[in-house]
This record gives sequence, structure tokens and C-alpha cells, in this order.
Amino acid sequence: MARIPFVCGNWKLNKTPDEACALAQDLRARLDGAPGVEVGVCPPFVCIPAVAEALKGSTVSVGGQDIFWMEKGAYTGEVSGPMLVSAGCRYVIVGHSERRGRFAKPGPELAGDLMAVFGDNDTTVNRKALAALSAGLRPIICVGETLEERQAGRTEVVVEAQVRAGLAGVRPERAEEVVLAYEPVWAIGTGEKCDDEEANRVCGLVRRLLAQVWGPEKAQGIRVLYGGSVDAQNAPGLMRQSEVDGGLVGGKSLIADDFEKIVKAAQQGKGMG
Ligand code: PEP
Repeated sequence: MARIPFVCGNWKLNKTPDEACALAQDLRARLDGAPGVEVGVCPPFVCIPAVAEALKGSTVSVGGQDIFWMEKGAYTGEVSGPMLVSAGCRYVIVGHSERRGRFAKPGPELAGDLMAVFGDNDTTVNRKALAALSAGLRPIICVGETLEERQAGRTEVVVEAQVRAGLAGVRPERAEEVVLAYEPVWAIGTGEKCDDEEANRVCGLVRRLLAQVWGPEKAQGIRVLYGGSVDAQNAPGLMRQSEVDGGLVGGKSLIADDFEKIVKAAQQGKGMG
């Protein structure tokens, strides 16, 4: 079964609503209707309405960068699934390593116990994934090992635990709405490149886990993205890998020229462009 590749930009803590709107308009002009690929962008919460308006009626989707699992109530600072849907979202990232407090190179602003302010764990990631699905959003569940875990030979154990925990309780009939993103923490925002073959190997491991959870047929229909310093240079090699169904792109998703090239690489890598 051919999976339509998906390239999704994670804009992180960047852009005001006006700046976000301008970038969305630029991306729309470049990427609306691009055949054989799905494109999405995940702006900061306050930019979502402006970006959704700029992309309305186009094929470029909007997503949130996080979600809380309660629909409403006394949870200051949180945003719920129904809120994201009504603001125009189709996707939501859950369990990004930065939300899990797992940073490749934490700066001084995150010294000591300050990283804990981003304290997602496998339990909260699972709740967020389930909340996304119950609101009608497609969760992009991020998994990946730190450098220390990789050096200790624990990549497979860590990825397996995160995948299994993230998917707990997701009903098989919703399986194809889920997107997985393998994002080795050491490659995020660092310029460190994960080898094409290694990215393919771990994405393949994720798919084997999906097959164990939901059966091989369903696993063939689920997108497994790679993320971690994807750019215009390394995208063609990564996107040619059989187990890599697109990319979750941080830094380069803020530069329209680069993001367009990454999207083209995904189309061409899958023989769809
Ligand atoms: C990300 O934010 O998920 C990411 C992979 O960032 P970057 O592309 O900047 O490494």
C-alpha cells in the first residue's frame, strides 16, 4: 500500500500572528495542491487562527504543537482538543522531545530543574494522543532517544517503550489517523544528521511495533516520519528511504525556500512528484 508522504513544519516558539500569516501565505503560494504529498504547519497557539485563515481552502493543513487532555476547566495556560479543532487544526504534535523536557543541548535558561517545566512523560503523552483522537485531531506522536541512551545501546528499548505507551488504548479503527515521528533527540536543532540508513532502520522498528499492536496490514497504512535537522541537502536521501514517510521539520520549516525543497524531496523520494 502506498502511503502518501507527509511533511509537517513545527514552528516552535517563533512568529507573531502577523509574521505567521505572511509565512503561511508564502507557503500556500508554493505548496497548495502539491501532488503526491501532504503538507502541514504547526504554529504557536496564538498564531493558529491567522494561519488557518491564510490556508483556508488550500491543501496545507494546520496543527497544534501540544494539547491538554481535558476539554475545559481550571487548567490555566492549557489548550484543549475542541479548541484546536474550532481554531482550524487537523493535526497536533504530542510528546515532542522538548515537551518531554529532553533537550539535546539545554541552554542556561533551562539549567537545574527548570527543564521540568516541560515535563511530559509517557503517561501524559498517551492521554494527549487519546484526547486528540477523541476531538477528531490526528496526533503526531514523537519518539526518540537521547545521545546518552544511544551511546548506551538503548535506542530500541527507549523507542519501543515510547511507542507502546503512546499508543495504549488507541482503538484499531483509529490507527490510520495516527502519525508517528521518530526524532532522535541528539539530532533535533543541532545540525547533527542521522544517517539515512539509520533513520530507515529505526522507522522500520517503529512500523514493526505498530504491526505488533495493530497487525501488519494496518501498520502498512500508518505514516512514520523522521525528524531531526532535516534540511534541503539531507532531505532527498532521507525521503528515499522505504520506511520514512516524510519529515517533521523544525528550523527549516521557517524558511519557505528550504521547506519547499524538503516537500519536493518527499514527493520525488516517493516517486510522486
Ligand atoms: C523538531 O522540532 O521536531 C525538529 C526536528 O527540529 P529541527 O528540524 O530544527 O531539528
